[in-house]
Amino acid sequence: MDSFNYSNGRLFAEGVDVETIAAEVGTPVYIYSKATFLDHLRKIQTAYAELDTTVCYSIKACGNINILRILAEAGSGFDIVSGGELFRARQAGADTRKIVYAGTGKTDTEIIDALNAPIGYFNIESEEELENLIRLAKQTGKKAKAALRVNPDIDPGTHRHITTGTRETKFGVDIERARKVFADYGNNGAVDLCAIHVHLGSGGKTITPYVEAVRKILPVIDTLREGGHTIEALDLGGGYGADYESDTVPSAADYAAGIVPILKDKNLKLILEPGKAIVANAGILLTRTLYTKTGGDKKFVIVDAGMNDLIRPSLYEAFHFIWPAAVQSAFVPPRRSKDPALDGTQTVDVVGPICEGADFFAKDRPLPPVKRGDLIVVFTAGAYGFTMASNYNARPMPAEVLVDGDTWKVIRKRQTYEDLIMHER
Ligand SMILES: *Cc1c(COP(=O)(O)O)cnc(C)c1O
Repeated sequence: MDSFNYSNGRLFAEGVDVETIAAEVGTPVYIYSKATFLDHLRKIQTAYAELDTTVCYSIKACGNINILRILAEAGSGFDIVSGGELFRARQAGADTRKIVYAGTGKTDTEIIDALNAPIGYFNIESEEELENLIRLAKQTGKKAKAALRVNPDIDPGTHRHITTGTRETKFGVDIERARKVFADYGNNGAVDLCAIHVHLGSGGKTITPYVEAVRKILPVIDTLREGGHTIEALDLGGGYGADYESDTVPSAADYAAGIVPILKDKNLKLILEPGKAIVANAGILLTRTLYTKTGGDKKFVIVDAGMNDLIRPSLYEAFHFIWPAAVQSAFVPPRRSKDPALDGTQTVDVVGPICEGADFFAKDRPLPPVKRGDLIVVFTAGAYGFTMASNYNARPMPAEVLVDGDTWKVIRKRQTYEDLIMHER
């Protein structure tokens, strides 16, 4: 479910006409729906309620502290990958014990901050990192729990840049090595190595890789337990699908239907780290048409957002459904897809103003006729949208707006030109 719907040919975010936001805040602007991300969080919490489950929302998907605060109040923990994200989580009032910390390159400063918090689990990516954590825990006199990130060697069949669970990635250790890590470091007196972490990567469109991962990991846990190690938790990571196209990915209930039965009675706490499944379609990027033009046989719609605002299409060839914010009734899209199959559309490239061939949002896409000044909506832009935005081409970063029912507020001001040079001396 999401709360971006057309009514009388105009797009509403919950109860707010997005045009009013554009008129007051300008474009490009990210607009988020509170009801949508709460709905997604609750659906996940409910789907896994049979197990002792902690949902740790992955901050890197969308990290505005207002959003984190709402999720924290709804019982979410957080998955962090940096000291900066730990800072964000604390600013948002997170329960630090519900924080899990992954990342291949944690610095000493970041580790000490997390030891002091203290967080729930350090997700360990290598032997050297574990040695360093043990050293710092002893030095500071802090206790810590750790989960070993194990690579089940499963390819969820997504883009090569977002596949992380195969053997030859920089993440985690493979299954054979996991046993040795527990043998070598299981009893170190400072860090309680008591959990397994798996993260397959992002974007798989079936539940199969997850079920397969659990089936491959459970025997490892059995062996470790037989060897005298306490394994209290399994962290299944993130990567659960989001509806970039209508009804193309499993729901939280679908994933749970495959995963919960095999984890029942295993005496394991379950941790989940969804990112985009919670926020992707809780956000849109609203942008305005600057110009239309033709080049050869191609038609271009040039908008005021660029790859610095939303880089997913350039970086991952990611699909985002794109449609004008105001349309005649014939053009209200029945569903979000690459080809909405409506008469009277024209095929266009939607591109930004940046001096890069990669600066595009869509290629060869059917769109209703669009003219200069029209608002264009890039849907399902809540995840890895604003968090990956940059100042490339000296473009101020866009504003972020949060809608709640009939009300809305700016939760991040648009940057100014002064902001661009603020730290320069
Ligand atoms: C990025 C990341 C996630 C979230 O991934 P999504 O695809 O947004 O669900 C979860 N866990 C870890 C370790 C990650 O790096």
